[in-house]
Amino acid sequence: MKSLVDRVVVVTGASRGIGRAVAERCAQSGALVVACAREDHANPVVDQILSAGGVAHAQSLDVTDSESVNDAIQTMLVRFKRIDVLVNNAGIVRDKLLVRMKRGDWDSVLATNLTAAFTCTQAVLRSMMKQRRGRIISISSVVGQSGNPGQTNYAASKAGLVGFTKSLAREVALRGITVNIVSPGMIETDMTAGLTGTVRKLLADKIPMLRFGTPDEVASAVCFLASDEASYITGQVLSVNGGMNM
Ligand code: NDP
Repeated sequence: MKSLVDRVVVVTGASRGIGRAVAERCAQSGALVVACAREDHANPVVDQILSAGGVAHAQSLDVTDSESVNDAIQTMLVRFKRIDVLVNNAGIVRDKLLVRMKRGDWDSVLATNLTAAFTCTQAVLRSMMKQRRGRIISISSVVGQSGNPGQTNYAASKAGLVGFTKSLAREVALRGITVNIVSPGMIETDMTAGLTGTVRKLLADKIPMLRFGTPDEVASAVCFLASDEASYITGQVLSVNGGMNM
């Protein structure tokens, strides 16, 4: 369904995994996609979208560099005239039990997963308020709701996104802007590729659907929230986790 025709969609962390699937699915839905990642990492996904007949541009962007974020968003606004949808997807893990966690592991996870959502959202918000339409969608995690040993930094960042989203949703509800979360469970990407077979089986056994999800299953939820079909949904957490957390 071409539910995003004429929409400009910016996706952070679009080089692989969930971000790549979001970029590809939004392009299939008719959007002009700006696929962001560090250095030239987003080029292959853009090539893929273009070869499938979609419209996409690559943007080199480190979301922890606030000056670059502001410059990149300004450049996009000049070039494309508008940004309709921002997907705050870029994320990292630096897992350690808290007793052994280095301050750097805490800081880098909070900077990439939470502070970057603040920076990117603030950079696009004024233009969305002027056009009286916009969608901010951030990718949280089931871990932000349930907690997970070894992931105090990651869980704090993902829970932080929920508070950020609900507060902003209230601030901009009258401006035609919706602000929502998609909260995946265990998804087959590079982030989970390092799990051993035994751990993977233990985790899958805790999921009512007994399997990890695919990036595309998360992307479809993001595209729904980005579309006009979701015009009356704001401040919500949409879980995509096979029933892992109810
Ligand atoms: P991947 O590790 O597969 O991809 C991470 C993406 O984030 C890459 O595109 C990477 O781009 C980008 N990224 C990392 N750091 C930065 C940075 N400083 N600046 C710009 N881009 C950056 O992760 P997933 O696809 O698995 O995860 C995507 C999101 O979904 C994350 O927020 C993650 O926390 C969340 N999530 C994932 C789950 C899972 O099971 N996989 C479960 C729940 C939530 P680059 O090419 O530049 O490295």
